[in-house]
Amino acid sequence: MKTNLKQLSKQDLFLFMERAGQKQFRTNQIISWIYKKLAVSFDEMTDLSMAFREELYNIAVISNLTLLRRQVSKDGTQKFLFELEDGQTIESVLIPNSKGEGRFTQCISSQAGCAVGCKFCMTGRLGLKRNLRAYEIVDQVIFVRRFISRQRTNGTSSAIDTFIKESPGTSHSEDKTDITNIVFMGMGEPLNNLHEVGRALSILTDLMGFSRRGITVSTSGIVPGIRKLAEIKPLVNLAVSLNATTDDTRNRIMPINKKYPLKELIRACRDFPLPPRRRITFEYVLLDGINDSPDDARRLVKLLAGIKSKLNLIPYNSLDNTEDLKPPLESNVFAFQKILQKAGMTAMIRKSMGADISAACGQLKAAYKSS
Ligand code: SAH
Ligand code: SF4
Repeated sequence: MKTNLKQLSKQDLFLFMERAGQKQFRTNQIISWIYKKLAVSFDEMTDLSMAFREELYNIAVISNLTLLRRQVSKDGTQKFLFELEDGQTIESVLIPNSKGEGRFTQCISSQAGCAVGCKFCMTGRLGLKRNLRAYEIVDQVIFVRRFISRQRTNGTSSAIDTFIKESPGTSHSEDKTDITNIVFMGMGEPLNNLHEVGRALSILTDLMGFSRRGITVSTSGIVPGIRKLAEIKPLVNLAVSLNATTDDTRNRIMPINKKYPLKELIRACRDFPLPPRRRITFEYVLLDGINDSPDDARRLVKLLAGIKSKLNLIPYNSLDNTEDLKPPLESNVFAFQKILQKAGMTAMIRKSMGADISAACGQLKAAYKSS
């Protein structure tokens, strides 16, 4: 069987090429082609001899995702629906950074579906289809980065260009369009697939040059996974989807809490080794009448006391009209934020991006025919 070069770490790539009788500089050329110039075939590697390319064809392949659909929101957010080799589908979301300048955050998937089953999340309703391999995680970034760069060089006019043009401080002569941040907040629970996520993290930083400070792994609170993530190099940012301040409420909306209750989760957060000036992000989906009261806000202050943290308050994005969960009243969202801020906490209200194309938090279901 041919080896998919993207499944190999830097070290394994060197070993593989050495076994194929190639010198080190050849491996560096290939790394540069795959991860910097984003080549998806050996044909594109024009500075390699024909003979070497022939040999590569015989022993190796370069994986690539199949794009089934791309949707562009009126706020500049884009959603990419990909098909994997076995027909499973996943989604990635590209979000313009708030300060513009053509910089983007890519929200990537770590699993097709998710087994955790949070009540407010569309991905959870799918159940787990399967874990993604490291190369399938990285390929989402490679595909979208390549897509952006091709779009720029071809001068294609599209919503992404329009958005860049309208962003303050951007000029076409000095094009800085790129993905600068990666968040594991797409489909799936990354800490339920930590082996492959860990490999993907090392490829993203080691081979693609992303800063570990620009990468965030978000979890619903898999306590042993948080402890393992703390030991994985590179140490990336941690985000925890907290969403409740009592075990009763959390059990109700996030069944994972029965396995890893709040006390254990908070302890694991306290133990997480934060580099200087880094903080843990706590995500808090506000649900009307369930977790959005002033008492909840005050409990939250107590719960997180002493943890270097920042809070992302996410007003619930409705999944359908038949459910018993509802978005919070705007006045309650502001009141909630105010209590946290008065207590000295950093609490941002996360604007819902891409809701018109079902790309907002919790709306990913990777359906091709519906939506
Ligand atoms: N499984 C990981 C990574 C997915 S992140 C995790 O749960 O952290 C998805 C984020 O969107 C989580 O913070 C989750 O709490 C939030 N979310 C899920 N469904 C949502 C919805 N319907 N509205 C708003 N936020 C939602
Ligand atoms: Fe899974 Fe995260 Fe959705 Fe919960 S919020 S079901 S953990 S993807």
